[in-house]
Amino acid sequence: MTPLAADGRLSLIGLDQAALERVMAGLGVAERQTRLRARQLVHWLYHRGAATFEAMTTLPSELRDALAARFSVARPEIVAQQHSSDGTHKWLLRFADGNEVETVFIPEEDRGALCVSTQVGCTLACSFCHTGTMPLVRNLGAAEIVAQMLVARDLLAEWPSGRDGRRFTNVVVMGMGEPLFNYDATVAALRLALDESGLNLSRRRITVSTSGVVPRIEQLGSDLGVGLAISLHAVRDELRDVLVPINRKWNIAALLAACQRYPARRPITFEYVMLQGVNDSDADARELVRLLRPIPAKVNLIPFNPWPGAPYACSSNNRIRAFARIVEAAGHASPVRTPRGRDILAACGQLRTESVRRRTRLASAA
Ligand code: SAH
Ligand code: SF4
Repeated sequence: MTPLAADGRLSLIGLDQAALERVMAGLGVAERQTRLRARQLVHWLYHRGAATFEAMTTLPSELRDALAARFSVARPEIVAQQHSSDGTHKWLLRFADGNEVETVFIPEEDRGALCVSTQVGCTLACSFCHTGTMPLVRNLGAAEIVAQMLVARDLLAEWPSGRDGRRFTNVVVMGMGEPLFNYDATVAALRLALDESGLNLSRRRITVSTSGVVPRIEQLGSDLGVGLAISLHAVRDELRDVLVPINRKWNIAALLAACQRYPARRPITFEYVMLQGVNDSDADARELVRLLRPIPAKVNLIPFNPWPGAPYACSSNNRIRAFARIVEAAGHASPVRTPRGRDILAACGQLRTESVRRRTRLASAA
């Protein structure tokens, strides 16, 4: 369903060629013209990044007026922005119904990844994750997932879309929420991200991270074949049942079997958050190596990002290095992900929690 923009008009953001053809037909555009007009709209929306119908100068002005009377291409409201000293940008976006999500841009030397959210909150409750402490409010629509990419291009001033000289080159679906529990909207949004006449991102530069929704992993492989990241975090079921409770439904063996079947064009990334005294021993590292032997794998060791009230601490640098050495000796690349944007609370979910808290304080003070 097309969501409403703040002014009550229907948003066109997130619609693909076929859906835009239906919009054109609904506006009474002659049948022989609906394809062309829809193609022009795709170009304006996702390649040129037009934020008003006025700007869509190849459309006849009557058509622009008719579109503007019923539809919107406005972005969600940006309610907070933070820029970290290491170049990380974080935006808190508010949708028409007042719900908020975070989008984080993480630049590196020769590329930059936009970390997008797929849900407001999360139904899962991983014990080390801040988003997991929020109740799920709702799934995002494809429109709202795509809007995060449009906002990033707007703010980085990187229209029109293209592959050369851009800072925003990658999308990682690793923000708030479990993307494979909002499967259809996530796939629809990523199809638009991949569309050559639109955002035109490379399939090799899109990664979906999941806590392990096994049946959907296979489907993602056949529907999109994008990069896959698995939030593993533990090598024994007893511990993973606690850290990543979805493990009680699909255990480590089932998860790794799904990974083995995944049509990976490049190694699967296994994310492993380093929790002091919990999952960070040499024995854990050796078991990790053993489990990953049959899979083309890369390991991302993530220093735990603490949040107020979290029941864990981050492993020491020495422990992380020792763990990494064992993983690397087995032939897996195991970059330790540098904690980015710590000074702006980049751990997922924290900016939104701050905003909700602030509003609650304001409301109770009123
Ligand atoms: N729900 C999906 C995607 C979003 S979470 C998933 O779980 O994969 C994105 C990544 O951030 C996951 O690997 C998650 O384990 C990690 N993460 C969550 N909270 C963290 C924290 N406090 N410190 C470090 N990494 C964290
Ligand atoms: Fe949800 Fe992922 Fe956080 Fe687990 S780690 S609570 S699945 S967002």
